[in-house]
Amino acid sequence: MSCVPVVDHSGICANCGKHESDIIKLKNCTACRFVKYCGVDCQRAHRKQHKKACRRRVAELKDEQLYSQGRERPEGDFCSICTLPIPLPMSDLSVVNACCMKRICKGCSVAAQLRGMDDCPFCRTPFPDTDADVLAMIQARVAKKDPAAINYLGEKYFHGRLGLQKDMQRVIELYNEAAELGSTNALFNFGNLYYLGDGVEKNTAKGVEFYEKAAMRGHVVSRHNLGISEVQKGNYDRAVRHLLISAKMGFKDSLETMKQLFMTGQATKAQYAEALKGYQDAVEEMKSHDRDEAKRLGY
Ligand SMILES: [Zn+2]
Ligand SMILES: [Zn+2]
Ligand SMILES: [Zn+2]
Ligand SMILES: [Zn+2]
Repeated sequence: MSCVPVVDHSGICANCGKHESDIIKLKNCTACRFVKYCGVDCQRAHRKQHKKACRRRVAELKDEQLYSQGRERPEGDFCSICTLPIPLPMSDLSVVNACCMKRICKGCSVAAQLRGMDDCPFCRTPFPDTDADVLAMIQARVAKKDPAAINYLGEKYFHGRLGLQKDMQRVIELYNEAAELGSTNALFNFGNLYYLGDGVEKNTAKGVEFYEKAAMRGHVVSRHNLGISEVQKGNYDRAVRHLLISAKMGFKDSLETMKQLFMTGQATKAQYAEALKGYQDAVEEMKSHDRDEAKRLGY
């Protein structure tokens, strides 16, 4: 704890104490935006003294955003047909068809099949017969700069699917392009590449940075991974803050980790209860007749 008295920095240069006036215009420290200076000389002279407080303030600002943003499921997490949020993990409980790249929940796709529909239930394009046909559909959307398709193609190169050879350079190019065009999944994929060292040199700090960007846009698994990363570092307070968010978004793994933290005394009973209640509410919101039916039929 520091014992420095609180100073109102609003109207004076943090170095020389000059007041703002018609002649003297003060400028914020560009990093923390908290203290002000009358000019570059004062800023330079004050740097050594200010460095520590500046860094702390920057970290605080970053945390404020990290824990307040991305608490709701993003647009791409909702079924394009029934509009309900898709249960997690989404890859098991929904499909994305190459024709339109729209995510459709298992409930809606099974219901369409049962009605005898064998085209894409969203856009009615007949399903492609071969990998080459799927690839052609994807390429057409990639050419139109669809970020979801670009990210999808990157994933196919990563896993070497659809007859493609695994090609990490191409994977990174595609993820980059998709991320620039706004794909949150591409940020998550980058997070995995670096965090796990999967095909690139392992760099957990860089992986965490990507998970943070994705989590702040509501990417649930990225949020969970941030929680796990903090557990591994022994930062249980930070871990709990992340895991509460992802548990409340309906991610079972986060709830289970919260339970373990509670059993080992790293989370309080109230925190675990909050996670449990939030998780149950989220699960309730994701239920539908068609989804129950698909599950009952073993899909
Ligand atoms: Zn000054
Ligand atoms: Zn500063
Ligand atoms: Zn649906
Ligand atoms: Zn479609």
